[in-house]
Amino acid sequence: MEKVHCIILTGNSQFRGGVKTSGAYRIASELRKNGYNTKVIDMTVFHGFDEDIQNLLSSLISTDTLWIGISYNFLKDIFGVDSERVTPVTLTDGPVDQDLIDFIRFCRTLNPNIKIIAGGYKKFVWKVYGIHYFAGYSDETIVDYTNWCAKKAGAQLSYHLGETKSKEFDKFVTSQITYTDSDIMLPGVAVPIELSRGCIFKCKFCAFPLNGKTKGEWIKRTDVLRSEILYNYERFGITDYIFADDTHNDSTDKLRLFYDEVYSKLPFKINFSSYLRLDLLMRFPEQVQLLKESGLRSAVFGIETLNPKSAKIIGKGVNPQEQLAFLRDIKNGDWKNQVLTSSGWIIGLPADNIDTAAELREFLWSKDNPLDHWSISPLYIKPKHLWFEESMNMTTEFEKNYEKYGYEFPEYNSFSSINWENKKNGLSFKLVSQQVINLTDRNITHPNWHFGGFAAADVASCGVSYDDLVSRTAHEIFKMQGEKKLGEMKYEKGVEYKAALMNHYGLPLINPKLPELQKLGLRGTTLFGYRDNKKPKNHDNNEPT
Ligand code: SF4
Repeated sequence: MEKVHCIILTGNSQFRGGVKTSGAYRIASELRKNGYNTKVIDMTVFHGFDEDIQNLLSSLISTDTLWIGISYNFLKDIFGVDSERVTPVTLTDGPVDQDLIDFIRFCRTLNPNIKIIAGGYKKFVWKVYGIHYFAGYSDETIVDYTNWCAKKAGAQLSYHLGETKSKEFDKFVTSQITYTDSDIMLPGVAVPIELSRGCIFKCKFCAFPLNGKTKGEWIKRTDVLRSEILYNYERFGITDYIFADDTHNDSTDKLRLFYDEVYSKLPFKINFSSYLRLDLLMRFPEQVQLLKESGLRSAVFGIETLNPKSAKIIGKGVNPQEQLAFLRDIKNGDWKNQVLTSSGWIIGLPADNIDTAAELREFLWSKDNPLDHWSISPLYIKPKHLWFEESMNMTTEFEKNYEKYGYEFPEYNSFSSINWENKKNGLSFKLVSQQVINLTDRNITHPNWHFGGFAAADVASCGVSYDDLVSRTAHEIFKMQGEKKLGEMKYEKGVEYKAALMNHYGLPLINPKLPELQKLGLRGTTLFGYRDNKKPKNHDNNEPT
């Protein structure tokens, strides 16, 4: 039996077994570099804690296994645990988190000394379950913790406390994500790649530990990036990327350096999707051509609002109409039939009013709209009891000073509750959430709707070329695929991943299907069958929806 030291359970519930999320694989890369055999498993393809995942864990966990880690991403999806739980569930409140308890018991039966750990950026009652929790970028801390578990000399920290606030990873600039065969790289799949960490801006609705960083900091070295991209190509044939870089165009010098030292020196051309700021593109128009030459195929902006007053308040002060006029020019010029354009929008900002959603709809459906794709969210403001570690810069200006902007929280709820009201503009979270649902439900019927944003990478991973994605609407793509819907395309990839995963470990596949998908809510989030294993088998409809 192979000695496995660390196991990370992760998943992308938007694309089970498909496009990977970066955190688990970054942590795994650091551990592997330090001699720890680490396996990463996408849990979202299993029917809760079912027989297949139990067989898989039984084959991996031995007395050599130091820990098994849960990425917060899939906690809700698999164990049916409320996200952002801040108080323990008791028998009088309702059912306890039985699946999570079963999972812990199962792991401890295989190895009574195994540690269970978790990481992510949300609150949960980890200590109640004896789960050690790592907050923040844990690239370095996790190696130290693993050394401590392995009783190696020189481990710096004590880990009896139940929680570790990780330091920033100052070796980021020379770090890579190094995939291995056990990560199951499906042919043609896009992967995330980190180019930098942090953002030079501090928009009032946004908070991450490295927001407000100094320009030029936390940028990966070009030789390191080039060798990472080359390795992925030579080993797995990877050419498509999702750039993990909060504001990729924060500096023209950075873009030029990456082009000169990385992309132009590769023996192939990459395709990538990335966050960009449209106001910066307008200010530095030379970036338009540079980004296209670098391989940009899907630009994801955050224009956020059409309301100039709201734009100013949030910290994105360039008039939205001027930005959109500039975008129209480049969509008809340099980016024509080359680059998809998408933007995020927020409803419920301080200067918004009851008509804001209708005005946005009118614009999105007008012939003046240069966007191929968009996503709309209500403004999220977490009340204080849901704030993540304040010391880790994860609290937004709107959260810290909500009263100043007219927000209040009349309904207190000890679980997830973001039911703000704003008497100044007459809006509430409930009201704008409904407006968002009404708007979002119609997106797919828009005659010019494309698979833009980060969905472009998903569809490309299902075998559709970027040239088709840019030049054809979603409806035309469906037609090309014999009316197969995106959910079905992704489902097939998930099935492929699951079969390849079990085959990699030489295990039989008892249930080749994926769990049932259920539409969950505002962001098109999908919650799926964490309770499937409790349903009678003949009622378990596992077909894609
Ligand atoms: S919204 Fe975008 S630009 Fe603003 S702080 Fe967040 S990551 Fe940076």
